[in-house]
Amino acid sequence: MTDLTSLTIAEAREGLASKSFTAVELTDAHLAAIEAARVLNAYVLETPDRAREMAKAADEKIVKGEGGPLAGIPLGIKDLFATRDIRTTACSKILGNFIPPYESTVTSQLWRDGAVLLGKLNNDEFAMGSSNETSCFGPVTNPWRREGSNTTLVPGGSSGGSASAVAALLCMGATATDTGGSIRQPAAFTATVGIKPTYGRCSRWGIVAFASSLDQAGPIARTTRDAAILMRSMAGHDPKDTTSVDIAVPDYEAAIGKSVKGMKIGIPREYRLDGMPAEIEKLWSEGAQWLKAAGAELVEVSLPHTKYALPAYYIVAPAEASSNLARYDGVRYGLREPARNIIEMYENSRADGFGDEVRRRVLIGTYVLSAGYYDAYYLRAQKVRTLIKKDFEDCFAKGVNAILTPATPSAAFGIGEKGGADPVEMYLNDIFTVTVNMAGLPGIAVPAGKDTQGLPLGLQLIGRPFDEETLFSLGEVIEQAAGRFAAPRWW
Ligand code: GLN
Repeated sequence: MTDLTSLTIAEAREGLASKSFTAVELTDAHLAAIEAARVLNAYVLETPDRAREMAKAADEKIVKGEGGPLAGIPLGIKDLFATRDIRTTACSKILGNFIPPYESTVTSQLWRDGAVLLGKLNNDEFAMGSSNETSCFGPVTNPWRREGSNTTLVPGGSSGGSASAVAALLCMGATATDTGGSIRQPAAFTATVGIKPTYGRCSRWGIVAFASSLDQAGPIARTTRDAAILMRSMAGHDPKDTTSVDIAVPDYEAAIGKSVKGMKIGIPREYRLDGMPAEIEKLWSEGAQWLKAAGAELVEVSLPHTKYALPAYYIVAPAEASSNLARYDGVRYGLREPARNIIEMYENSRADGFGDEVRRRVLIGTYVLSAGYYDAYYLRAQKVRTLIKKDFEDCFAKGVNAILTPATPSAAFGIGEKGGADPVEMYLNDIFTVTVNMAGLPGIAVPAGKDTQGLPLGLQLIGRPFDEETLFSLGEVIEQAAGRFAAPRWW
């Protein structure tokens, strides 16, 4: 029954409702697929017993006609989401064997709606990275390879396990988080759909904090429709997160297939980078033409502060990270290294528990927040952030409904290929995605084509605050025009 893994969530929902198969069968098919794909290193913890138990419960509810909107749908959960009684590590050694006594709001809403937990997915340590190479569990392999090559490619990051698992049919959908592109960039690298909702749309409660003013949860799925289905369950107000917004959650799926006629799509001239591969440029114009053919109007727009987004992000994000990560001191969570006194214990635990990239961020963050440099770096970066946000506001004020850009400046690259000598080389990957987090806006990445080596490329649509529906409608147009892409199985 392994072909059950290639169904979309929408198709599986039909099959379960019509009793073509059971939730237990669907879950078993995925558990077998996971076992056969360990070489990808997408899961850091498999929870087969819990999965079968949840699937059985879903079957019982389906029989009684009480199944929720996700009844029996097997999902993978990024290891940044706290899962009650199940090890949650953020893929950092410092969390050790931390077993949370609570469940994140987003995941609890998924279980409320009947979804099944298959296991915890790999990610960059504390979600810091763009390639999933900083995880203490080792890198994740992208199921996609260049045509005629065996080179192991990264799935992107930080939600690399989520993207790889969804693309390799190791779950029907996954949770992910996006602080500076971590949902959209891995989605683009693996031909999956990823949406970062508006800041405040999903609760951050129970998600390991990286940069609190930028972090948002969202789904990765194989189709735009599936992403919309998952979003409806994940979104919503939560009194436990004061930044979550009390606005009703719409039926996102209803936006799929809705006409985009008359919508104004902005094409920002600042996203046309020197040295950008010609095929990305080409894909971008092709995407614009697809939207035009569906009745949308294309307008050139300007987002003049784009060039400052990346440097400003790499001040704001480490600053918040250095403060958030102060809680990992060997006392409250996970790893505790022996020492002669408490100060030495803090030092030893943090030195041993954090990987290189996390340490670099803590150092940068502490520096930009320090008394002598606060105004020059942090305060200035916050001002730049306001200007970036205003660029988008000006654009939307002129009637633009959404903005179309490439999702990434390149296709997936090889493990070990980037950032070894200079971390900035890795940071440059986030050039099209960080602006959206800085402005708090929703952004979706949709597979749109392949490069000359057969690797997937994605396009990004950026929307008005809380207008995820428009992104789903437009994303569906691109998906219909581009077709769907599946990684040839080699594992
Ligand atoms: N790649 C970015 C970083 O390393 C974004 C990570 C994220 O969105 N979690 O900070």
